Amino acid sequence: MTHEYKPHGLNDPQVDSERCVAAVQGEGRSISFHQCRRKRKYGKWCAQHYPPNVKKRDEERHRRWEAERKEDERRWREEKRTRLRVGRIDALNAVHEILDKNVAASDAPGTAYISVPLLRAELDALATKWKK
Ligand SMILES: [Zn+2]
Repeated sequence: MTHEYKPHGLNDPQVDSERCVAAVQGEGRSISFHQCRRKRKYGKWCAQHYPPNVKKRDEERHRRWEAERKEDERRWREEKRTRLRVGRIDALNAVHEILDKNVAASDAPGTAYISVPLLRAELDALATKWKK
């Protein structure tokens, strides 16, 4: 929303009818407003301050933000999925390692002798280690 310039103080210049009526904030930290320096193009406004143009720019900016937000969200979900995938692969590899260790210790090649309670104990130990 663009405000129209209106002189308030005694030293404020009057509205210049050749120029755009938009009130523009002064340089830096100034809180004072002056009249836009551009020539009028659409009625009493310059192209930049013409309300439909301001609205269009605001909408474009909003669309850009929205697109960026959605992209950030998509990327975040993908990273989360990747972390989960990596975690699951680590878990499966850990089970393979436990089985391999027991295959090596067994007499019959390719046969793993491991009791279910021992396997559970090994998995619990891993879970405890991974929680740290
Ligand atoms: Zn202007």
